[in-house]
Amino acid sequence: MKKKDIGFLKKLIGCNTDASEKKDYEKCCRIIEKELNRIGVKHERINGRDGEGRTVSNVIARIPAKKGNAKKFLIASHYDVVPPGEGWSTPPFKPILKKGRIYGRGASDDKGAILSIMMALEEIKNEENLDWEIIAVFSGDEEVSGEHGMGEVMGKGGMSADFALVADGTQKPIIGASGIIRGRIIVFGRQCHAGRPFAGENAIMKGIELVGELESFSKEHEKSISKLNAPEDSGKKKLWGRFSVTTFHSGEKENIIPGIAKIGFDLRTIPEQDIEEVKNEFIKFVESAAEKKKLKIQMEFFHARKGYSSNENNKYVKRMVQIIKKNFEKEGNEETAGSLGGNDGCFISAKGIPVVCCGVGRIGNNGHGIDESAVLEDIERLKRIIVEFIASK
Ligand SMILES: [Zn+2]
Repeated sequence: MKKKDIGFLKKLIGCNTDASEKKDYEKCCRIIEKELNRIGVKHERINGRDGEGRTVSNVIARIPAKKGNAKKFLIASHYDVVPPGEGWSTPPFKPILKKGRIYGRGASDDKGAILSIMMALEEIKNEENLDWEIIAVFSGDEEVSGEHGMGEVMGKGGMSADFALVADGTQKPIIGASGIIRGRIIVFGRQCHAGRPFAGENAIMKGIELVGELESFSKEHEKSISKLNAPEDSGKKKLWGRFSVTTFHSGEKENIIPGIAKIGFDLRTIPEQDIEEVKNEFIKFVESAAEKKKLKIQMEFFHARKGYSSNENNKYVKRMVQIIKKNFEKEGNEETAGSLGGNDGCFISAKGIPVVCCGVGRIGNNGHGIDESAVLEDIERLKRIIVEFIASK
């Protein structure tokens, strides 16, 4: 890999684009635009605005086809990252190179892929027989729903395409993703002095009762099975529904009976399920469990994202999967699957565009973990996948 490419990647990782704070979103987009200017590719912005009025910048680069009536190939990636967390060996936003790997938050998810796309654009820009119009999207907020990032670009931005690669995730060819519903249940008791417990109602004990009931929802939800394969490391053949209690907050002091408990949950649907329907079923379940246990509750929903799946017999899907398998010999040759997570592909698929996902992630990269890294050779390979797809007939 060339020094200038590594230099660009280092600048990207050097931006603190933690999606919860969005501190360096604008700085990171300027770095991307500067690189596009250097390689001579035109770009524009389709910016979104989140619920708190903060700008979510999205950069869109275009290389026109060399002939009329060309089909559009959309390549999507995201520059935002999850919070770094504690315990890194080196500072998360100060990238370092070691034995063919680059370390730093976002190296694998998804800034390494941004470099792959950039290198591909540079390589094909002067191609004489470019059959495709190429549209590369560098969006924000993917880690917090993508609604104001890729959602804005596809929605209000009115972006269209004939086929899309979401350059994100692992090296496995992924042709669909789970839907996500997140929220919390607040259980009310009555606060009082711990010396006089009879005067109150302990919200912790009530919350635990409700968590126990949720177990049967989880078991039932697990029976929904998709037609898409599950990733091999999941130990299951087909993608399935999952429900987890993920947080439990209650109590402030040892001598106070707590009056409130907050139970956070994460519900994953299969692509075939209607997310609103599942949400309503869940609400009904919780309400009847609360009635049964005589609990006073309130429900809040923070986040919902539809699942999606692409037709694996679509000619572009087939061709892309084949090229991925050729270039990522190990993980790429696992069976084509649906993702256990969600991703920005949902906004693209919602417009009827076939989507394949593939990134530079692999076991050992620690995406979303501490000491995240990416293998430079993998970044080159993802570039090759993009270039080969564009050149293929
Ligand atoms: Zn990602």
